[in-house]
Amino acid sequence: DKLIRVDNQGDIGSGSVQPAIIPRPEHIVSRASISSSALKVLYRLKEAGFQSFLVGGGVRDLLLGREPKDFDVATNATPDEIRQLFRNCRLIGRRFRLAHVRFGREIIEVATFRGRHDGQLHADSDSAHSEQGRILRDNVYGEIEDDAWRRDFTVNALYYDIKDFSVVDYVGGLEDLKAGTLRLIGDPEQRYREDPVRMLRAVRFAAKLGFRIHPDSEAAIHELDYLLDDIPSARLFEEVIKLFLGGCAVSTFELLRHYDLFRRLFPMTEEALSHEEQGFPITFVLRALENTDKRLAENKPVTPAFLYAALLWEPVRLRTQALLDQGMSALEAAQLAGNQITSEQILATSLPKRFSFPMREIWMLQSRFERRRGKAPYRMLEHPRFRAAYDFLLLRSETGEAAEELADWWTHFQTLNAGERDTLVESAPARKKRRRRPRKRKPVSKTND
Ligand code: ATP
Ligand code: MG
Repeated sequence: DKLIRVDNQGDIGSGSVQPAIIPRPEHIVSRASISSSALKVLYRLKEAGFQSFLVGGGVRDLLLGREPKDFDVATNATPDEIRQLFRNCRLIGRRFRLAHVRFGREIIEVATFRGRHDGQLHADSDSAHSEQGRILRDNVYGEIEDDAWRRDFTVNALYYDIKDFSVVDYVGGLEDLKAGTLRLIGDPEQRYREDPVRMLRAVRFAAKLGFRIHPDSEAAIHELDYLLDDIPSARLFEEVIKLFLGGCAVSTFELLRHYDLFRRLFPMTEEALSHEEQGFPITFVLRALENTDKRLAENKPVTPAFLYAALLWEPVRLRTQALLDQGMSALEAAQLAGNQITSEQILATSLPKRFSFPMREIWMLQSRFERRRGKAPYRMLEHPRFRAAYDFLLLRSETGEAAEELADWWTHFQTLNAGERDTLVESAPARKKRRRRPRKRKPVSKTND
C-alpha cells in the first residue's frame, strides 16, 4: 500500500481553519450509547498511538438523540497499520479503501483520513477522476482537517474524539444539525460530479432525519441528475437497498420522485406511474413500501426480492398484457414478461441472482393462486415461496388489483385442518377461463435469459 501524505496546501482543509471543539459536558454524546465494539476499536487505535474518532452517521444520530444504524471510525493509521492492530479485520474497496473490523454480526468501518486531491496534483495510481469529474479512486491520505472537507454533508462530518470525548466540527455541521439542514460541503456541483450518488444520499438523509436539503445543494440536483446513469448498476443496487430497506421507504420514495431521481433507479416503474389511472399503480407501490416500513419497525425480515417484485409489478403486468395482445399464451406471456423486465431493470440497478430468482417466483405464483381445485392448493402451500407470494397477493387485493375474495380464501384455507381443507377445496370455484385471442402475429422470440 503506497501512502501519500498531503501536507498543508495553504487552503481550507489544511490547518488554516480552526475547528469548533465542544467539550464533553456541553454535548450529549455518551459512551453508554456507543456500541462496545466501536469503543474497542476506538480505544485500541488510541492506545497504539493513533488519532481515533467516531465520525459520520454515528455522531450525527447520537447528537440528534437517535440510535445509530452503525458506527464509523476515522483515524490517521493507514489500512495496513489498522490491519496489524485487529485480527478480525479485512481491507475492502478499491475506489475507497477501508478496513472492516468484525465483531460477530457487527462490522465497524475504519477509514484512514482522506487527503485533499485535485486530480492533476495526484495524477497517479492513488487518486483518479473520470472525464465527468467523478472520483474513481480516492486513496490519498491526509489529516483530520482534510478528511472533514472530503465528507459529503456537514452533519456527516462531525468527529467524536475518544481522547477527551469532545466533538470536533470543521464545517459548521453542528449549526446545520440544529437547524435541520442537509448541506453539501463545498461547491455542490463539484461534489455531485465527484460522486453523483451523493444526490441519492441527500434524499435518503433528508427523508430519514426529516431535514431540509439546503437550497444550493437542492438546485444542483435538478441540473445533474443525469450523471446517475453512469454509476455502475451494482453500486446503485446497494444504494436502493439503503433507500428502501432503511425504514423510511415511503418518505424516501416521495422525495425521490419529487427530485425526479426515482426514474434514474426504476425507469420502467416511473413510466408506469406516470400513466396511473385512478391512483393505481401508485397506491400499490406505496402500500408495498408502507408494508416494508411497518415490517422493519416490527423487526420482521424484509428482502430485496419482495421489494423489487413490488416495484416492478406494474411494468411486468403491462408487458404481460402486451404479449397477450400479440396472441401469446398466458403462461408464456407471464414468463417472458418477467424475464424481459428483469433484464431491462438490471441495466439501471442490478439485482443479484439470489434475489431475482425468488422475485420471479413471487410473480409466477400469482396466477397459481387462482387454481383452487384438486391438488393444486396443497402443492401451493408447500412451495418454498408461498409465504412471500401470499403476502404479495394480499397487497394486490388491498389495492384492488386482485379479487378480495381470492385473498380471503387463501387466508382462510391456511387456518383450517386437513379435513376442513378438503371440504373447502371441493367447493372452490373453478378457475375463470381466459378466452384466448386469435393469434395476430408470431409471438416475440424468447431472447432474454
Ligand atoms: P448511515 O446512518 O446510513 O450509516 P452514514 O452517514 O454513517 O449514514 P455511511 O454510508 O455509513 O453513512 O458513511 C459514513 C460517513 O462516510 C458519512 O457520514 C460521510 O461522512 C462519509 N461518506 C460516505 N459516503 C460518502 C460519499 N459518497 N461522499 C463523501 N463522503 C461520504
Ligand atoms: Mg454509517
